[in-house]
Amino acid sequence: MEAITSLCKRRGFIFQSSEIYGGCNGFFDYGPLGSQMKKNIKDAWWKDMVESRDDMVGLDSSIIMHPSVWKASGHVEGFSDPMVDCKASKMRYRADQLFFAPVIVEGELIGYISVLESEKKAAEALALAESLKRKLAKQGRLETPILTPYTEAKAEEYDLIPSPATQKPGSLTAPRSFNLMFQTQIGAMADASTLSYLRPETAQGIFINFKNVLDSTRQKIPFGIAQIGKAFRNEITPRNFIFRSREFEQMEIEYFIPNDESWKQWHQEWVDTRLNWLASIGLDTAKVHLQAHEGKDLAHYARACTDILFEFPFGLQELEGIAARGNFDLTQHSTHSGKPLEYFDEESKQRYIPQVIEPSIGVDRLFLALLCSAYKEDIIDGEKRSLLQLHPRIAPIQLAVLPLVKNKEAIVEKANAVYQMLKKHWRTFYDASGAIGRRYRRMDEIGTPFCITIDFETLENNTLTLRHRDSTQQERLPIEGLSGYLRDLLA
Ligand code: ATP
Repeated sequence: MEAITSLCKRRGFIFQSSEIYGGCNGFFDYGPLGSQMKKNIKDAWWKDMVESRDDMVGLDSSIIMHPSVWKASGHVEGFSDPMVDCKASKMRYRADQLFFAPVIVEGELIGYISVLESEKKAAEALALAESLKRKLAKQGRLETPILTPYTEAKAEEYDLIPSPATQKPGSLTAPRSFNLMFQTQIGAMADASTLSYLRPETAQGIFINFKNVLDSTRQKIPFGIAQIGKAFRNEITPRNFIFRSREFEQMEIEYFIPNDESWKQWHQEWVDTRLNWLASIGLDTAKVHLQAHEGKDLAHYARACTDILFEFPFGLQELEGIAARGNFDLTQHSTHSGKPLEYFDEESKQRYIPQVIEPSIGVDRLFLALLCSAYKEDIIDGEKRSLLQLHPRIAPIQLAVLPLVKNKEAIVEKANAVYQMLKKHWRTFYDASGAIGRRYRRMDEIGTPFCITIDFETLENNTLTLRHRDSTQQERLPIEGLSGYLRDLLA
């Protein structure tokens, strides 16, 4: 992970927000290469999920909506995480990500330990328990600590559990519910009537426009409404780089289907569609897993939810959720607004509130998963190289044109002409400075799939060298017909 975050900063993919003022936790800025790559991800999604389908339309709804939207959706009441504060260190934790265990030696309770959520939490807990046993000079068998989330601690245990920051007991508060929505005021008067929220998801903007879209298009069920946009969540512990941030972008689809049992097939079809799409843009499918929500993990209104999980360097985590939400959202907005949000089926002459399948993915999380899939290190000519094996659709730069030398006018002119020709069609970069090997490495590191070199032979027979990033193989090609050849390669 360290290698990826440092590459992101060094090469201008991602910067910490407000860095010159010490940073702003949970917020990030995308630099020249990052903003292009992020746009490529969104363009690929929009092209494949919206433009190429007859059963999908797009939407771009506002970030701030009527506050009643969030009452109807359940976010005002329930969009919260349990948090716990450490009064000594002023650290704040998510109570469900803080684990504690009694330390028992020879059947005697000698104290408590606490650890934060991580792949290594069991090993950390054991090490802390052993250290406590040594400190208190206890003899005998130490029981393996059994970790429990802090949300399940008994009131009398709060004062006994040490804070992960200080490793001393007595400073943790009881868990409190913390609503993750950012509040704001609409207009000049700051009172309760003007209170509103920055949207924590884009989906509700789709539901409240269901009728508008239906009335203004000729879509018939089944059809979907897709949206890409910013979402804001005041996460208690933003972490793992851009994986969990406070401002992020989502790509969400609400796919409206009949109000019957067909939701099972539709749900499965969307899981397959989304998996295929993720593979098509270069996600490492060997690191992808599916997880179905069951029992108490399934939201009360949902019929089913399947998460697409990805093996990030910090553990297996959700990348995308695909939920069968029944007709909960449209029913809620119908009830709260008093406006019927129904669909009239011309054929059966039936009026009903459709069900919905919701595939929802974070752009930033996908950005990170693609970087993790693409990052490789190998040895070329005895030298270590790091490269990003990004899919050509996603790579910020698709082609680099490199004159072999910069002090030979005829070569520079030719390279410039090729550059001008190619940049009309592809994201092309011109680089004349440094040794050719160094220039190749720079391009490999930012994921440019192909480099084109203009050399002395070009002046003789109008051919050039095309170098492939992944294999480092080079081929000699005539300039004539180059565009057609590249079109196939970059497709
Ligand atoms: P998590 O359990 O990780 O908080 P969630 O189940 O709350 O996620 P959803 O509400 O289903 O997430 O949001 C849909 C998608 O939006 C997620 O699959 C993820 O890709 C993205 N997402 C959610 N929260 C964040 C965040 N804080 N930062 C970046 N992306 C996020």
